[in-house]
Amino acid sequence: MLGRLARWLRILGYDVAYESSISDDDLISRSLHERRVILTMDRELSQRESAKNCLLIKSDDYREQLKHVINHYNIDCKSFIFSRCFICNELLDYIEKEKIEGKVPPYVYSTHNEFDFCPQCHRVYWSGTHRGKILDKLDEILRVSLQ
Ligand SMILES: [Zn+2]
Repeated sequence: MLGRLARWLRILGYDVAYESSISDDDLISRSLHERRVILTMDRELSQRESAKNCLLIKSDDYREQLKHVINHYNIDCKSFIFSRCFICNELLDYIEKEKIEGKVPPYVYSTHNEFDFCPQCHRVYWSGTHRGKILDKLDEILRVSLQ
């Protein structure tokens, strides 16, 4: 239910663990151990005494969810954006251009000089039109009232 929210928060550079099947007790103990906040749609879980840092997400629209989380935690959307793999949650590393030849489309290779890669899944990232689209989408989400 919160998968898209998790991916968006990773795009913004935030460390997000995503669990779709974990018991409430395990989730709470992991959040305490790893000093994470819990984002959940489960009202009962959010009301538990032991779930101290918990935010109840009420909307099932990912855009509302994202806006809610950004506003609630006063999240900085620009400083860490595109620093993390949105699939694995790993921080991206800079990689020399020569090392990724053949791993990105030839046009991208010939028109870009800066590349990052994910040490976990080896996905290569670069600043291109897709990043512009993500920024436009983010502006749209933050500007528009979705109610
Ligand atoms: Zn990755």
